[in-house]
Amino acid sequence: MKWEVVIGLEIHAQLATKSKIFSGASTAYGAAPNTQACAVDLGLPGVLPVLNAGVVSMAAKFGLATHSAVAKRSVFARKNYFYPDLPKGYQISQFELPIVHDGYIDIDLENAETRRIGITRAHLEEDAGKSLHEDFHGETGIDLNRAGTPLLEIVSEPDMRSAREAVAYMKKIHALVRYLGICDGNMQEGSFRCDANVSIRPKGQEAFGTRAEIKNINSFRFVERAINYEIERQIDVIEGGGEVVQETRLYDADRDETRSMRSKEEANDYRYFPDPDLLPLEMDQAFIDAVEKTLPELPDAKRDRFIQAYDLSRYDASALTASRELADFFECTVEAAGGEGKLSANWVMGELSGLLNKEGRDISTSPVSPERLGGMLQRIKDGTISGKIAKQVFEAMWNDEGDADAIIEKKGLKQITDTGAIEKIVRDVLDANPRQVEQYKGGQEKLLGFFVGQVMKATQGKANPGEVNKILKGLLSA
Ligand code: ADP
Ligand code: MG
Repeated sequence: MKWEVVIGLEIHAQLATKSKIFSGASTAYGAAPNTQACAVDLGLPGVLPVLNAGVVSMAAKFGLATHSAVAKRSVFARKNYFYPDLPKGYQISQFELPIVHDGYIDIDLENAETRRIGITRAHLEEDAGKSLHEDFHGETGIDLNRAGTPLLEIVSEPDMRSAREAVAYMKKIHALVRYLGICDGNMQEGSFRCDANVSIRPKGQEAFGTRAEIKNINSFRFVERAINYEIERQIDVIEGGGEVVQETRLYDADRDETRSMRSKEEANDYRYFPDPDLLPLEMDQAFIDAVEKTLPELPDAKRDRFIQAYDLSRYDASALTASRELADFFECTVEAAGGEGKLSANWVMGELSGLLNKEGRDISTSPVSPERLGGMLQRIKDGTISGKIAKQVFEAMWNDEGDADAIIEKKGLKQITDTGAIEKIVRDVLDANPRQVEQYKGGQEKLLGFFVGQVMKATQGKANPGEVNKILKGLLSA
């Protein structure tokens, strides 16, 4: 309890252009090795990089969406190091003058708190290739398809104080780049990954502790686990009388631990310098204004609108705007339900999300369309079915047995609202249970639930629960 955790993240988001950042080669995922690397990506002598204009407007969008400064002038720099997957011997990146800097986003925490996380900078760079070890014995294969893929590296301030905050920040950036349409966010394919910088300091101390950097984590779950493991490790080191050393570590998901990769002493001196092959990147205000006009409604604005328009809690509205697809699904449902915001929110986040999670699907492949879900909610609203029966209807829709009306009809699920019919069933239940009736009248009013249950059993859940309660109470007090 006496340690405070300090975390800063560097997120690599692959920009969703069709071709690479400095060449015309395709960025499509999954092609056979080395079929999508052209002379520029291979760094052959005499070739020159040509900047892909698409990445410039994408980076500008990100800057505008994160309250950052979009630089009118930024500079590409060479980051020099030797590695087999880097044929040129340097990576083109940005160093002193990045395209985006000094912004922030706000994250929502579970306890209804929000925290502002600073964005130091976001710069453009090219990805390197990939070393392949698995299919080779005693050798390493090199696949350069990935070389030259455009990346936006988003560097945060060391503003996070727990693994959960780091995950909330990462999720928010993930949602944002997908709303903006600048990154597909596919973490399995490596389109969105992060390095986590972690340190601890005694509570109350101002100076930061020495940090370790955990490289290349590609899932939200692993980020949380890797950081928590790292926090424990650093506490053990310090409380055991040792010192944390500045180093790069790797997270091993199979063993749930981080391992040292290289220490600060072995760290590369990248000898950054401006790339003489590329002009400084200049943007005028008119261009930035034009980009601003293309911004969609962003997650925070959508969340606030949902709170207003549908009378939702901030928590619900945040959850529903976590992705654009989910938000759109929700709004279509509300429309199909005739404007039932709260009821739609409950079903989208409850039953629907539950089943999607269970089957590992995402909202875009939901077997139940928003139109069908909304149609069913109309039947709850007009009293045709109860909320409980609705679960049966929903399941049948999930299994593609038709829309709500067809299922209600086919399975005879219409709610019994005819008071005469309900009263008859209630009387039968009371007649069949004279002992419980006596106990109830003797003061055991909890038995009301028992009678309701019996009536529901007799009607297969179809009796209108409100009517059942009313009639039961009336007859029992007579
Ligand atoms: P480098 O370029 O060597 O990776 P930076 O100074 O650019 O280093 O920082 C990289 C990341 O590390 C940033 O996200 C920053 O917020 C974070 N960071 C810096 N110092 C600390 C620290 N003491 N504890 C945790 N994170 C830190
Ligand atoms: Mg770093």
